[in-house]
Amino acid sequence: MATDCVFCKIVAGEIPTQFLYQDDEMVAFPDIHPLTPVHILIVPKKHIPSLLEMEQGEAPLIGRMALVAKRLAKEKGIAERGYRLVINSGPEGGQVVPHLHMHLLGGKKLK
Ligand code: AMP
Ligand code: ZN
Repeated sequence: MATDCVFCKIVAGEIPTQFLYQDDEMVAFPDIHPLTPVHILIVPKKHIPSLLEMEQGEAPLIGRMALVAKRLAKEKGIAERGYRLVINSGPEGGQVVPHLHMHLLGGKKLK
């Protein structure tokens, strides 16, 4: 855990949220500033700062995050209409929170 990391604090239960999913390696919770009617963050429990710091053995985690996103999209009733998964990496990639996470966006037509 990185002590000054907002997502590590959420994972540790130090910042309250509504967990929509959790297992031994990841959690999911609503984005605090939703861009779309459904906007959920899928976050590994391990503090991996960004895609850039991902190591070989961590690659399958991204696939499992995508499967959790599918499950959440189904639960939210947007799976068939379609949704978008986004991982921002680094300052010019639009990453603000330096703890790897996947955005699940949906519930409206995206451009
Ligand atoms: P990114 O720009 O990819 O780093 O996305 C970070 C996201 O985290 C933004 O969409 C924020 O709205 C969201 N966020 C920041 N703090 C919180 C929080 N405490 N709970 C939920 N979402 C948060
Ligand atoms: Zn962290």
